Amino acid sequence: MKYDYVIVGAGSAGSVLACRLSEDPNCSVLLLEAGPDYPDFEKLPDELKYGFSAAPSPPRSRTASGHPSWLPTNPHNWQFTATATNLAPPMQVPRGKVTGGSSAINSSAFYRGTAEDFDAWAACGNDSWSYEKVLPFFRRLETDADHHDDFHGTEGPIFVHHSDPGSWHETQRAFCDACVSSGFQETEDHNHPDSGGVGPGITNNHQGIRFSTALGYLELARHRLNLTIKPDCHVKRITFEGNRAKGLIVESGGEAFAVEGEEIILSAGAVGSPHLLLLSGVGPADHLGDLGISVVHDAPGVGRNLKDHPKIYVTWSLPEGYPVQSRSAPGGAALRFTAPGSDLRNDLGISLSCFVPPRRHVIEEPPQNVDDVLRVTEMMITLLLPTSQGELKLTSPDYRVQPAMNYNYFAEPFDRERCGQVFGWLWSWQTVPNWSGSLGSAWLLPMKTCPRKTPLTTGCLRKPPPILTFPAPAAWAHPTIPWQS
Ligand SMILES: Cc1cc2nc3c(=O)[nH]c(=O)nc-3n(C[C@H](O)[C@H](O)[C@H](O)COP(=O)(O)OP(=O)(O)OC[C@H]3O[C@@H](n4cnc5c(N)ncnc54)[C@H](O)[C@@H]3O)c2cc1C
Repeated sequence: MKYDYVIVGAGSAGSVLACRLSEDPNCSVLLLEAGPDYPDFEKLPDELKYGFSAAPSPPRSRTASGHPSWLPTNPHNWQFTATATNLAPPMQVPRGKVTGGSSAINSSAFYRGTAEDFDAWAACGNDSWSYEKVLPFFRRLETDADHHDDFHGTEGPIFVHHSDPGSWHETQRAFCDACVSSGFQETEDHNHPDSGGVGPGITNNHQGIRFSTALGYLELARHRLNLTIKPDCHVKRITFEGNRAKGLIVESGGEAFAVEGEEIILSAGAVGSPHLLLLSGVGPADHLGDLGISVVHDAPGVGRNLKDHPKIYVTWSLPEGYPVQSRSAPGGAALRFTAPGSDLRNDLGISLSCFVPPRRHVIEEPPQNVDDVLRVTEMMITLLLPTSQGELKLTSPDYRVQPAMNYNYFAEPFDRERCGQVFGWLWSWQTVPNWSGSLGSAWLLPMKTCPRKTPLTTGCLRKPPPILTFPAPAAWAHPTIPWQS
């Protein structure tokens, strides 16, 4: 059978496409997914069902990048590894392998990019991607429970919540107040195009449930006879007629099948899509030639410009007697701001965990006891607009072998400078009213040694960040970068 549309990957993009395209009953749509599907909500595994902080039993131990320690070995994760910097040991890169894709395993933070980001895409010739043109789609995809205005939707399939300052834990209040006393404005809505400063965090976690695209979108379309959802189908390569894609070779249950479509839509994610293009002969001709892959189209850009937003952490110990609660409250405050001297608006973000286990570099360590969990709060600094670029390349023509990925984090001095500035600034929070008075002394926890008892000196942290001179610990995308004098 030949379908009108064959979609590769039922992730964030693929599930939306399958739902929207199959609205037309005259179109036949085939959605192929390498991972499993859980059509029955009652059978959805807990680790997919609940957001990280909203699970009935929030994770007591976490990976280097703050994800729960079940994630590294979970079958719903592709479990890729990559290079963070040339000096760092391999970094693990989680990506969802299940209907919903990465939206089924992610942290459910729900922030839009800046308007300038989209306008820059439009200026590159992608006319449909200006902020003005994407705004109606942002509105259409969400039901924002808290903001009803020109910038927010009220009827979309993804539920969105802005955290309620009235329910914040004291640490979140202190963080917000300290940001304000440091000169940042307060914002009520981080998804407003002009927003900046500190305000309620936003999630697509609805009543404890991580609202993935599998729940939000596929649920609307599963009953349609013109939509076929095929899980556990690993696409091996795209087939072409001349240079037009006409079908796919798919592995299912140990057998190979050929499927055809009027249109082949590649939505296999930032790793899966370039991987499949390269396997299919679309990419840099010399690279493909080295692996004995016939070139269908010489496209040097495939696999280039690999980016993700690196994260670094500052961990604070809580003074004895500080009021703690037994679990993380979902949501809290978030700060988005522009680094001094940067022309990229809102290129940095900081949010605060309530109470977290001190981070470790060995993920297999047994969970720490509850007392440890409750005595630490942590700032996560995210470089939202990095300029360093990495690369993805094949190491084998075998579709089962993951491509080599080098994220090349912090290669650009601009990225190092921006993170160094914010790091130094946060260190100075030891004397910021509302913060230090409430929370005590700052401890930095380089994961390499996990020295919960080793606060660094102020002098160490005023130096430029020595990221490239320190062998980073086993980290996760988005990796944690260790700091050491
Ligand atoms: C742990 C984690 C936390 C994150 N936290 C956040 C957050 O809080 N907020 C946020 O905005 N973003 C977050 N992200 C990022 C966000 O989830 C992704 O950017 C987004 O889901 C990517 O969507 P996508 O459609 O491009 O790819 P995906 O959603 O990853 O979908 C790709 C799909 O294609 C399938 N696939 C791949 N290759 C093949 C193949 N050969 N054959 C068949 N199927 C294939 C995959 O199994 C997957 O289902 C997080 C990601 C992760 C992994």
